[in-house]
Amino acid sequence: MPKFTQPDTTLLDAINPLEAEFLVSEIFHSIQGEGLRAGERCVFIRLHGCSLRCSWCDTPYALDKRTGGVSMTGREIMDQIKSYDCTFIEFTGGEPLEQIAVHGLMKHCCELGYTVAIETGGHMDISHIDPRVIRIMDVKCPDSKMSSLNHLPNLRKLKQLDEVKFVLASRTDYEWAKHIIEEYDLSNVCGAVLMSCVFDALSFKSLAEWILEDSLNVRMQLQMHKFIWDPAMRGV
Ligand code: SF4
Repeated sequence: MPKFTQPDTTLLDAINPLEAEFLVSEIFHSIQGEGLRAGERCVFIRLHGCSLRCSWCDTPYALDKRTGGVSMTGREIMDQIKSYDCTFIEFTGGEPLEQIAVHGLMKHCCELGYTVAIETGGHMDISHIDPRVIRIMDVKCPDSKMSSLNHLPNLRKLKQLDEVKFVLASRTDYEWAKHIIEEYDLSNVCGAVLMSCVFDALSFKSLAEWILEDSLNVRMQLQMHKFIWDPAMRGV
């Protein structure tokens, strides 16, 4: 089982996010494929490195901090963001919260008037994220093999601006997710409870039928970008 520690956030205010160095996997302009903003143009900043190893991870190239990724300052990242003429940006990964200076960079983007979202794996404390940022948080289900690493206090910190996501590989995952949604009242607490299928593991039809049978107040999603482009294609 992977090991990680929550980063020390006591020095967050002392970090200049424009001078800070980030390990970046890729930055690209695409169509948001998931969540309440699916279909909108978005600039994605994929930070490199993640301590988890989800069995179905679709960005394995962005996990290992010892290989891959390029070093960029926050200022260089901002220059690239500005070149796309797009007001919606999302920090993703890997796990963006494992690079602590991302907090300051997201705050800086909010102050410039961008709509900012972060997609996080759910194992890192989300409480230091700027309140203007849309938090799209995974809750890892049993088949990911990482569910014991969910940072459960996060589930009590979610609010209407936020979206929570369950990626399901099986009926077991679905039943587990249903239990968590009920226990934490997520359908009322969050702006959206998202359910999606592990591509090629669980059929969309099965998930749709289960949701209808249970009258579950969730939003099923298909990861639009995987239908527009080849599912394995990077940078889209
Ligand atoms: S948390 Fe996300 S990036 Fe990390 S291994 Fe899991 S799916 Fe991949």
